[in-house]
Amino acid sequence: MLDQNTILNSMRHIVDPDLGRDIVSLGFIKNLKIDGGDVSFTVELTTHACPVKDTFKLRCEEAVRALPGVTSVSVTMGAMERKERPGSGVNTLESVNAVIAVSSCKGGVGKSTVAAHLALAMVREGLKVGLLDADVYGPSLPTLFGIHQPQVAMLNNKIQPLVVNGLKVMSLGFLLGDQPAVLRGPIVSGYITQILRQTDWGELDYLVIDMPPGTGDIQLTIVQQASLDGAIIVTTPQALSLVDVARGILMFEKVAVPVLGVVENMTSFQCRDCGNVHYPFGRGKSTLQERFGLATLAELPIVPGVSDLAKPDAGSDLEELARLAENVHRAIGKSRIEAEAHPEVSYADGYIHIKWPDGEEDDIPPYNLRCACPCAACIDEYTGQPILDPNSVPRDIQPQTMQPLGNYAVSIAWTDGHSSGIFSWEFLKEFAKRVARANA
Ligand code: ADP
Repeated sequence: MLDQNTILNSMRHIVDPDLGRDIVSLGFIKNLKIDGGDVSFTVELTTHACPVKDTFKLRCEEAVRALPGVTSVSVTMGAMERKERPGSGVNTLESVNAVIAVSSCKGGVGKSTVAAHLALAMVREGLKVGLLDADVYGPSLPTLFGIHQPQVAMLNNKIQPLVVNGLKVMSLGFLLGDQPAVLRGPIVSGYITQILRQTDWGELDYLVIDMPPGTGDIQLTIVQQASLDGAIIVTTPQALSLVDVARGILMFEKVAVPVLGVVENMTSFQCRDCGNVHYPFGRGKSTLQERFGLATLAELPIVPGVSDLAKPDAGSDLEELARLAENVHRAIGKSRIEAEAHPEVSYADGYIHIKWPDGEEDDIPPYNLRCACPCAACIDEYTGQPILDPNSVPRDIQPQTMQPLGNYAVSIAWTDGHSSGIFSWEFLKEFAKRVARANA
């Protein structure tokens, strides 16, 4: 007799490569029905855009069909519904599966270019995508797509987005004109609220929001009102300031939005004369990955004319963009699953105690960890040399607050007044091992 356990067990060897766990223990198998030898179930993935969707379907069918007594297998592929967050209340985003912000600490690093190309790369994958240009300081969507002073239509009191090359687009520039908004804060906030609440996006797999650069009140308004699923930070090697990036991460974390990773723009160029690829700012392991545990989602080269998106095939020849879209799907999926299980950190009996999702536990002495703080005030961000003198740290130092930052790090404020340290879980795992070895 076929039973649920036999069927589930037959699929336990199918491991999600991004999450490192099997699809049964991840809870992906839903609505399992057995009718004689006919088996049907749904595989509920983290997002519709899961890059390994087809492989999962095939492998599930194969595994169950191989069981004795099974005469037919019907597998439906589904995706997790977007969870409502407190404070969302933005009804036009109800049928959007994932809302992601593309943000930068400084202007001019290519944030709008990356946001638009990411959205277009997703459209090329067959997804339903919207792009909202919320950059009040200089809306760039009109320029990128060559749309100037369009007639924005209203229907049932909702703003209708334009459709360009299969992508739904809306820009503050369509309402304000192409001029940078020299408007006072409250008025700008009013426009943003209106555009967020009233744009009629319909059903979307992704809404990509091109954020205003920086981390002020306007940015926070958007982050809160749009109820984001994740954020991407765009930077260039020459604009990279760890202090700014840390500020960006903290802004998103304040409202519990996971930072999915970083896009490093304009890292290299191909010389027209010799054909060689040059890296004017050097190559190496990303400092952001090392310092904050943030993944690099893509490294984009300098490409002349990359911001001319009026052509239907703009960007289709850039492999890095397809990879960027794929990495974003993976990161969203991972963050949705991991949101349910990240390490727990506490302080007791003179130790910082970490309980890892796999059940392992570590104790770290606060003094040692404070001395190893990787922030820009403790380690020179250009030379990597320590600035902090361990003798200046009180031996009896304790953590005052420990704020987990999504799935990748914890921010610690100490009793010596220092509060800019962000410790990635990866760093802490390694550090705990080092402490244990030293004490052995
Ligand atoms: P931001 O939104 O950060 O202000 P933009 O996307 O408007 O930045 O880009 C700033 C300028 O840099 C634009 O002139 C754009 O064409 C150019 N640019 C951005 N990314 C690239 C790239 N990868 N290659 C060449 N030029 C780029």
